[in-house]
Amino acid sequence: MTNQDIGGLFASAAALAAKFRGGVDQRLQRPLNDYSASLATFKEPLPKEGMEMPEVLTELEIKAEPGLHMPTGPRFFGWVMGGSHPVGVATDFLTSAWGQNAGNHMAAPSASAVEAVTASWLLELLDLPRESSVGFVTGATGANFTCLAAARSSLLRGVGWDVDALGLFGAPPITVIIGDDAHTTVFSSLQYLGLGHERVVRIATDRDGRMKPHDFELALQNVESPCLVILQAGQINTGAFDDFETLVPIAKQKGAWVHVDGAFGLWARASEVRRHLADGVELADSWATDGHKFLQTPYDSGYAIVRDEEAHRRSMSITASYLPLAAAHERDPSQYVPELSRRARGFSTWAVIKHFGKSGIAGIVDNACDSADEIATALSREPGINVLNTIDLNQVVVSFSNPVYGMRNDDCTASVIARVQENGEIFAGGARWKGQGVMRVSVCNSNTNLRQARRAAAAIIAAYRAVAKADHEIA
Ligand SMILES: *Cc1c(COP(=O)(O)O)cnc(C)c1O
Repeated sequence: MTNQDIGGLFASAAALAAKFRGGVDQRLQRPLNDYSASLATFKEPLPKEGMEMPEVLTELEIKAEPGLHMPTGPRFFGWVMGGSHPVGVATDFLTSAWGQNAGNHMAAPSASAVEAVTASWLLELLDLPRESSVGFVTGATGANFTCLAAARSSLLRGVGWDVDALGLFGAPPITVIIGDDAHTTVFSSLQYLGLGHERVVRIATDRDGRMKPHDFELALQNVESPCLVILQAGQINTGAFDDFETLVPIAKQKGAWVHVDGAFGLWARASEVRRHLADGVELADSWATDGHKFLQTPYDSGYAIVRDEEAHRRSMSITASYLPLAAAHERDPSQYVPELSRRARGFSTWAVIKHFGKSGIAGIVDNACDSADEIATALSREPGINVLNTIDLNQVVVSFSNPVYGMRNDDCTASVIARVQENGEIFAGGARWKGQGVMRVSVCNSNTNLRQARRAAAAIIAAYRAVAKADHEIA
């Protein structure tokens, strides 16, 4: 392989990437192929002989493109997904080209150092206790898992049990207190850690998914064992925040470890206008958040933030005679995550923060939230469209009804979602919220602006009117 071969290959990957990203705005905002069509496209026997490198790329593009979704587009409002900003993508490309293994500082000096610096930037951006440690994980799921492992270690150490060495067999029980509308991945993390996703005390929530403080206080009254309290900043459907200023002090009186799932909501802290939503969140002990949502890093980027660095490292450390031991002033990335070998995730976060700066990141959050507000305001002017949540952040939850002709609300909502997705001018998905079918509109891409938001609202209203009209004609 010559340098020319490599250069040509990398250049063609860059050209394919640029072609794709340049055309996202003009495309249908959904894949052309669903899963089974994608599987049929890729399915073939194990290749016996190899293929030339440029042909591999060409074939991949032809096969993969029809099955690509468009979270990088300005009118993608599905789930809660960030836009993989080009500066992060280019950095990720370089990261792969450099081929660093970010396990430890000897194997990857730059990758380890960039994490150390970026970690302190993140603490400043989110305004969390500066002594906290930060693990660069795959996403908020990995972050929840990592933080809860530190919590488990610390809580049981407090009652004289070394869970990291002895495991949970015979350990004193931990009481886990969690809101009814916590994200599913928090329950998964409890499952991975032997704490069980059902063996929890669930607290009732209000219409936006916030824990009810009175119920929370009552539940804590009788707790005697070590206690883990899990709160949230940014409910997955509504964007709502638990009332940290009220709840954290109650939990602290019981000596509880307070963890906050702030996958996207924690980024309200970066905005002067919206940081009040998360007031008191800094009183917690650990925080999970994502880079690949509001911050717009490419996928595979989340942060596990733990106030007690020792608990964090104790629960994650891997030691072996062939691995160098870090001195106190040296960072080994693997000591903060449940992995050894991995890509050097710190580079893309570093690049995105360098590009946007603190003010630019505040702008991303405010722009997304203003766009969500614009969509909600336009939708709520249309009779039959019901915005169900308070728009504090970037999430809009809506249901659709056709009161005149008697179509069931859930059927009406499902039909509107199907029509919106089929039209493909925007993408929004569905969920069940408080017992009814809803459309979720999540604004989480730095390309979405007020103009795109108005276009999105018009597309949803047009789909609703078409559904209502068809219902009328049947009736
Ligand atoms: C997205 C999300 C998660 C899971 O994060 P991943 O990055 O998908 O692992 C957890 N909690 C909340 C509130 C989320 O929005």
